[in-house]
Amino acid sequence: MTSGSIIYVDVSVKRGELIGIKRLTAMATVTLSVLFTACSREAEKSELTIYAMDTVMSLTVYGDDADRLTAQASARINELSSLWAAGDTGSEVGRLNNGEEVELSPETTELISFSLAMGTQTDGALDIRLYPLMKEWGFTTSEYNVPELNRLNELLDMRGDIHISGSTLALPQGTEIDLGAVAKGYTGDILYEMLSEAGVTSAILDLGGNIHVIGGKPDGTPWRLGIKDPRADGNIGVLELYDGAAVTSGDYERYFEDDGTRYCHILDPKTGRPAANGLCSVTVVGKEGRLCDALSTALFVMGSEDAERYWRSHNDFQMILIEIDGDILITEGLEHSFTLSDGTNSKVQIIRS
Ligand code: ADP
Ligand code: MG
Repeated sequence: MTSGSIIYVDVSVKRGELIGIKRLTAMATVTLSVLFTACSREAEKSELTIYAMDTVMSLTVYGDDADRLTAQASARINELSSLWAAGDTGSEVGRLNNGEEVELSPETTELISFSLAMGTQTDGALDIRLYPLMKEWGFTTSEYNVPELNRLNELLDMRGDIHISGSTLALPQGTEIDLGAVAKGYTGDILYEMLSEAGVTSAILDLGGNIHVIGGKPDGTPWRLGIKDPRADGNIGVLELYDGAAVTSGDYERYFEDDGTRYCHILDPKTGRPAANGLCSVTVVGKEGRLCDALSTALFVMGSEDAERYWRSHNDFQMILIEIDGDILITEGLEHSFTLSDGTNSKVQIIRS
């Protein structure tokens, strides 16, 4: 269960209330439930808060037919979630992990292919084959444990090469996957397309730290998103976003502490241990949610220097890196859309090409 690390600051419900409901929902093991539905006085706004993919999601859609469209979007999230839940033995991913040969849906085929390509492009920093390690560390059950070095190496060595061609897939023996690093981003892309095709020109989809916006607010101004302070309550800054996605990965979302060390849920595929390369939060902003989601995880693993190098050789995204020592690095494309919160002492450096 993760908490939102990037939030829509103009949102009308308080985050604390949502998190309270989220815990309750999780305890009752309800994977999806409608917790809150409200329409403002203008009939053309529809808000829906649901619990899916292990997080609280809130959908706000403006325009004619907004109620029907938010309901349709939530049904679509439910469908996608039931394909990808790694711990669910009936899902496509669950069946793959169980050693079955699976006839994949087009969405799963696309998401796995994309993830493998991003794995190559990030030099292995994104690796969907870490599910056995996630289980070993206890991140799937919250029964945490620091594994022995040789156990980690044993599990890393069990990863086999995945070759996907056509729509049928069987994983190499011992290989288990988890699409947690990319699923919400891709879901956002699917919803974006669905709603745009239905004529929506103003919407904000908060998929638990993955924010996707269609156009601007109904008055045409950009949406204002709060970037959470990784080490304190409140936001470290506000990011303005018009049409696109912003995705944050942080070491404060899901972690445990043992003997004074923080162990977070993003693993370094080279070591099998939680990534510890100097960053505590990475926000990636771009057109495509799946790219932002894959990169927020991968750049977190890389650390500032490699993330900066990666950004220079790709021109399809912008990023905000927050280092453990508190410094903030922002790529030049966000220079005028990011504002540091009052009272924040962090040093901000702009990364230029
Ligand atoms: P969140 O899902 O909490 O918003 P991320 O998008 O960064 O955060 O995804 C983290 C999830 O991805 C983990 O919970 C785990 O399931 C999986 N994961 C962890 N490390 C990696 C990695 N290096 N590559 C791919 N997936 C990972
Ligand atoms: Mg991610």
